[in-house]
Amino acid sequence: MKILIADDSTVSRHLLESIVRKWGYEVVSTSDGNQAWEVLQRPDAPRLAILDWMMPGLTGPEVCKLVREKISDPYVYILLLTSRTQKEDVIEGMMAGADDYVVKPFDQQELNVRLRAGRRIVDLQQELMRAQAALRHQATHDALTGIQNRGKITEVLAARVDANAPLGVIMLDVDRFKSVNDAHGHAAGDAVLIAIAQRLARAIGEKDSLGRYGGEEFVIVSQREPEDLHQFAESLRELIASKPIEVTSLYLVVTASFGVASRDPSTPCPGHLILRSADEALYQAKHAGRNRVCVAPTPCLQEA
Ligand code: GH3
Ligand code: MG
Ligand code: MG
Repeated sequence: MKILIADDSTVSRHLLESIVRKWGYEVVSTSDGNQAWEVLQRPDAPRLAILDWMMPGLTGPEVCKLVREKISDPYVYILLLTSRTQKEDVIEGMMAGADDYVVKPFDQQELNVRLRAGRRIVDLQQELMRAQAALRHQATHDALTGIQNRGKITEVLAARVDANAPLGVIMLDVDRFKSVNDAHGHAAGDAVLIAIAQRLARAIGEKDSLGRYGGEEFVIVSQREPEDLHQFAESLRELIASKPIEVTSLYLVVTASFGVASRDPSTPCPGHLILRSADEALYQAKHAGRNRVCVAPTPCLQEA
């Protein structure tokens, strides 16, 4: 584990460096507070720091304060070094955000166990962050296909409504999907959904966001211009229909129907109405014979 040592006294710094190296830490060292703060802001910053109290530039407590104000993740565990005479000021140091302190001249074994305690905190925090990120991913992604789920794609749409950019929705529904399940089993149906999600995910660009809306329905929220969005939907239809999907030595020809809706740039229109228009166009595509793209009348124009 990497550790920052900030101490302006060369003797004390070198002593600390050699001791913690012996314990297996990778050392980054500085001799003033400004440098220490600079190191702690780097992307690969050490997550353990031993800071001397008095240093040129920022003092140890001042660095602590900055770290607590500006860096919440990843957590930096800070040990302040104090001399006997500063021991009364320890409260000030802890109030500034230090986790612990060591009085100079320090006892090696004591420093060792205090650093171990710090490592435990840093490791626990990292584990917590990992678990939190996993939960966040779970809450926003579809378990079967790995793409965004309905809640998330709806959120993406709502978030883009206020942007000064084109906004549209493609909604697609796999044709006669029930017959895939009926003929080849639910597992084959699942494999088809995964393959379709993968094809769509590979085809989308920077302006598009893809989600699974329901069973065999997918949604793409896009900032493409209306005509481009229509062409894009055509290309996706082709992408699904043109190449059979391989499912355990079966080659299944699958098609999907598409509904496309784009808002008018000068007419305010909430996301759910764009979505509804795309859904209505999809319904039309089904009725017109499936495996096709239908474009909805621009939503919200009548209401405006
Ligand atoms: P249409 O062309 O009118 O859309 O016909 P369809 O058969 O695709 O539509 P319908 O709504 O009748 O059937 C959808 C089927 O999708 C029924 C349901 O069991 C299946 N389905 C929904 N979610 C999943 C899933 O996660 N896995 C599998 N294997 N099947 C699913
Ligand atoms: Mg269907
Ligand atoms: Mg459906």
